[in-house]
Amino acid sequence: MAIAAKIQACIEGSSWIRKMFEEGGRLREIHGAENVFDFTLGNPNVEPPRKFDEELLAIARTVPPGIHRYMNNAGYDDCRAAVAELLAEKSGLDVTGAQIMMTCGAAGALNVALKTMLNPGEEVIILSPYFVEYKFYIDNHGGVPVVVPTNPDTFQLDIPAIEKAITPRTRGLIICSPNNPTGVVYPAESLRDLGLMIQRKERELEKQIYVISDEPYARIAYDGITVPNIFPHVENSLIVTSHSKDLALPGERIGYLAVNPRMTHVELFMEGAIFCNRTLGFVNAPALMQRLVARLQRESVDIAAYQEKRDILYHYLTEMGFSMVRPDGAFYLFPKSPFSDDVEFVRMAQKHQILLVPGAGFGAPGYFRIAYCVDKAMIERSLPAWRAVAREAGLK
Ligand code: PLP
Repeated sequence: MAIAAKIQACIEGSSWIRKMFEEGGRLREIHGAENVFDFTLGNPNVEPPRKFDEELLAIARTVPPGIHRYMNNAGYDDCRAAVAELLAEKSGLDVTGAQIMMTCGAAGALNVALKTMLNPGEEVIILSPYFVEYKFYIDNHGGVPVVVPTNPDTFQLDIPAIEKAITPRTRGLIICSPNNPTGVVYPAESLRDLGLMIQRKERELEKQIYVISDEPYARIAYDGITVPNIFPHVENSLIVTSHSKDLALPGERIGYLAVNPRMTHVELFMEGAIFCNRTLGFVNAPALMQRLVARLQRESVDIAAYQEKRDILYHYLTEMGFSMVRPDGAFYLFPKSPFSDDVEFVRMAQKHQILLVPGAGFGAPGYFRIAYCVDKAMIERSLPAWRAVAREAGLK
């Protein structure tokens, strides 16, 4: 065998994603790109805020000496301080740069966090529907993912079910709010109840259980909702996030890990994380991006434009008979599949040039995901095709 058996199996297991991707290319050739409605990727279609370009040009004009050199593996102090300042405001806690490490996106931060905490065979609870990469990241560091479903009607936390899944082998839990793929936001009371339950289990099992809050969509929330911060509610918590979505910089790989200042052994955790950032081969987060995001902590892309797209799709699709939870954030809808086999439904939609991801890809068969970080004009052009899909599926 030319490559590791495990990797070969992973590639084969996800080959249907590749097939769908290839099918999209084929449909574009036949019908023209204008007539193919691709809702598969969480890749923002918008440009970063204007201030990003202004700051980038300002740096390019001055070119500070040493700008391209290595720095502390945790990142530039001023960037960490800028991140900490906003987090202190949001959490009401005394967060300082000492609890922040700049990373290569939320993905980098997740891998660092998991490597720092996991002994071989320890369990990490993930909540379905989940961001599929969690399983691979946990496995990267010798951990074992344990899947617990969220409430099937609301996609909110099912705290008794999480409690039941906690064993002496549990090391952590990953939550994501606003959620990919459902778009739901966990309210503060829910985080508080989660924190109380975790604290009780920590006492009972005499061990630290980490709650990792994966929140790259935290600034993408609608109807004036503020996404509650995890820190006041769960002591042994950490935030992994990035500017991939809120500043539309996914290709630039810039994010951070923030550790709750009240975490038990907080300094040791940070020391471990900085070591892992180095030895996983990330070394440090991209220098130029750190200089930029240090100045852009209070900026974000146009959230109103995303809300408008959510409103259009939610309105028309529910009118056509699709059933879904109305999301409060992120840029995804996760409707029920009209067919019990979600892959079959996605194939049928493809015949109408609508490209979707089946819920099975998120550990939640029976649903499908729409990523609406696409042009509004494409959404509008897609409506007749959606109507045809609804008719063929026997909805209204
Ligand atoms: N977590 C979730 C829930 C995501 O949806 C994504 C990207 O889509 C990531 C993490 C990784 O993002 P990043 O680009 O910051 O690594």
